[in-house]
Formats: sequence, C-alpha cells, structure tokens
Amino acid sequence: MREITEITCHHTASKPTTTPDEIRSWHVKGNGWSDIGYHWIVFLDEDGDWVAAEGRPESRAGAHAKNRNKHSIGIVVSGDYVEDTLPERAEIALSALVAAKCIQHSLTVENVFGHKEVMRPGYTECPGYDMDRIRDRVQTHLDAYVPHDGSLA
Ligand SMILES: [Zn+2]
Repeated sequence: MREITEITCHHTASKPTTTPDEIRSWHVKGNGWSDIGYHWIVFLDEDGDWVAAEGRPESRAGAHAKNRNKHSIGIVVSGDYVEDTLPERAEIALSALVAAKCIQHSLTVENVFGHKEVMRPGYTECPGYDMDRIRDRVQTHLDAYVPHDGSLA
C-alpha cells in the first residue's frame, strides 16, 4: 500500500446527481485515463440520498491534484459549489467519509485540503465549498472516536 499523507477535496462542477459512472466516462473516454481520477465520490443518488461510492482503489495513485497525487486520496462531491451552496446533507456525508479516512490512515484535519489549497493561487476555484466548515465537522468526528477495543491509547 502506498503511503497516504493527505486528503484532497473537490467538486465536479456539474450536477449533484452526477454519478461515479459518468465521471469515470469523462476521465476514461474523455481524458484517456486508465480509470476515474478520484478515489471516492459523494453524490445525490436516485432515491435523493447523499451517498459515497468508491472510485479508483486507494492502493493506486489518483489523478485529481497535479503534483500531489502520489500520497493523497482524492474525494469529489458532485455539484458546482462555486455556483451553489453545499447542501448540509452533502456536507455531513463528506465529513463522515473524510473522518473515516483520517482514522484509517492516521491523519488529522491538518492533512485535509481543498483542491485550491494545494495549487498555486488562481489555478482553480475547486472545491468551492468552505473547507474550514468541513475540517470543523471532521474534527468533531475525530474527537468522538473511540478505538473499537475501547482503549483510548
Ligand atoms: Zn478539484
């Protein structure tokens, strides 16, 4: 397994109902990549629920943040959050996923970034939503986390 040192958050700049298969098609057929560029996709499904689906396996580097892919996990939320406000239910789903990934890979909120935070200024507006709100929610999850054996060590 490659070493994971950061999590990078994105938006699709498309509809909230954009599915993993649609994104995979853009990346594979459109860009000629081997697979979808993101590791996880949070989207509004046909039942009206915000759900998380796996994209590229985490064992393989993604294609989502230039020069930062080698050690990062890329998570995208379907929707355009430069134009629209991130719905609260999407924020909850994203934060829960990011928190789970922090725990799995022994990361903190210091290791969680929005795409534009890891690029030179002006490169992108992605992800549009407020990363400090996401990091606050993730921190709340991490504060409440107790390892499954019940120890606090
Ligand atoms: Zn992005």
